[in-house]
Amino acid sequence: MDWYLKVCEMTESSYRIQGATGEWEVVIGLEVHAQVTSNAKLFSGASTKFGAEPNANVSLVDAAMPGMLPVPNRECIRQAVRTGMAIDAQINKWSRFDRKNYFYADLPQGYQISQLYHPLVGEGTISIEPEDGETKIVGIERIHVEQDAGKLMHDQHPTRSYVDLNRSGVALMEIVSRPDMRSPAEAGAYLRKLRAILRYVGSCDGNMEEGSMRADVNVSVRKPGDPFGTRTETKNVNSVRFVMAAIEHEANRQVDVLESGGTIVQETRLFDPDKGVTRSMRSKEDAHDYRYFPDPDLLPLELDDAFLAECRASLPELPDAKRARYEGPLGLSTYAAGVLTADVETARWFEALMAATGKDDAATAKAASNWLISDLFGALNRLGKDITNSPVSPAQGAQLLGLVADSTLSGSLAKQVFEIMLETGDDPAKIVEERGLKQTTDTGAIDAVIADVLAANADKVAEYRGGKDKLFGFFVGQTMKAMAGKGNPGVVNERLKAALDG
Ligand code: ADP
Ligand code: MG
Repeated sequence: MDWYLKVCEMTESSYRIQGATGEWEVVIGLEVHAQVTSNAKLFSGASTKFGAEPNANVSLVDAAMPGMLPVPNRECIRQAVRTGMAIDAQINKWSRFDRKNYFYADLPQGYQISQLYHPLVGEGTISIEPEDGETKIVGIERIHVEQDAGKLMHDQHPTRSYVDLNRSGVALMEIVSRPDMRSPAEAGAYLRKLRAILRYVGSCDGNMEEGSMRADVNVSVRKPGDPFGTRTETKNVNSVRFVMAAIEHEANRQVDVLESGGTIVQETRLFDPDKGVTRSMRSKEDAHDYRYFPDPDLLPLELDDAFLAECRASLPELPDAKRARYEGPLGLSTYAAGVLTADVETARWFEALMAATGKDDAATAKAASNWLISDLFGALNRLGKDITNSPVSPAQGAQLLGLVADSTLSGSLAKQVFEIMLETGDDPAKIVEERGLKQTTDTGAIDAVIADVLAANADKVAEYRGGKDKLFGFFVGQTMKAMAGKGNPGVVNERLKAALDG
């Protein structure tokens, strides 16, 4: 453990809060609840589909009818194991479910089935790349599997509250980080990376707006070098931006309290996104308050080697490995490799584009990556779309790149053709054909235009020949303009040189 703590200490960012008594360091640990992608709930066959009519997806088990017995859903366990493998975590072949007892109107059983003492997944790591900081390893303490609760609705009736149990019993992974983050930016990078991994693995859709991923944010502050301070936990924050804002506010609040002679009490807080502040909800409860005990309705989970082997074999290439491959064998820049692998959908699109070009050399990869990152992303941004509903397909993109590679199109013509593709949905080859947008390498035609341009600008020709070299660009521009952008830039340059210098 010592080496590990030292590494963390060395790579710490220098984010500090400046207080009246000097600098404060912020310490952050995140507990992320990620809804497992599965058709059925953790212990029942009821559907997990989002957006169903209230209480449409509630089995007798989820409603906690007496005598109902939970049966573990193999797929949920499989997804949690695959997630553990994706973060290089220890997979516990023997784990057990515990009851966490508490009363709340959205919890018909009166307890949540969770895992306290023997989680399914043990220690792992996630490497993060903060926007303007160093790559850093964040330790994962554990991933355990547990049931979600239902949802109370207080705004449906003037005097009553309603309960929707659709979510009751849905499988969650609770992914607990070590207190390894030191700034809002690092916490943001951690959440983005975790979400990317979950999406690559396909174990959670990572959709924070729909509540499939939410974070409990543990924050404390200390003077650099001091032991950890007392933390507060801000519950259920549902966007990366809010997590960062909650940390910022909470850390500053703690510094103010400490500097004015107060103490931090370990408590649960809520984040108010409208005001950007956290406020106290309740004092922190401890494990013993929940009277955890092994759930007598469930046998311990025992995983065999064949199951583990299948889980491992089913993992896709993960973001770090993909990025290394894009940067290494494919020869892309660090920046491009980062952008293309940040999101599984982008990586899939890029790979479909490469496959459609039929090539895998560095030049093609570079052209494809440049086009995707600047032209396609730019267009999607303008249109308010994302890569999953791009109006242009990978095959069409590859065709366009092919037309540039074989010199049918110049860079600027390709941009024109792309705009028309976006409007019409047509293939680039068809657009080139119908609109005659091909670039010309016909030296006869180019020479004729050049002769006209030089005749119309005799004064400039004289200046150029008198030593004003910079005018060359002017002649190129004029020639291209006269050819409506269709002159092959290489040939135009060459013929102009010959005409002017020869
Ligand atoms: P509990 O089981 O009471 O929730 P844990 O020890 O499991 O407590 O920690 C929960 C989370 O709080 C973890 O993500 C951990 O990294 C984080 N954490 C623990 N101590 C601190 C601290 N001093 N400051 C910030 N975060 C902390
Ligand atoms: Mg906890």
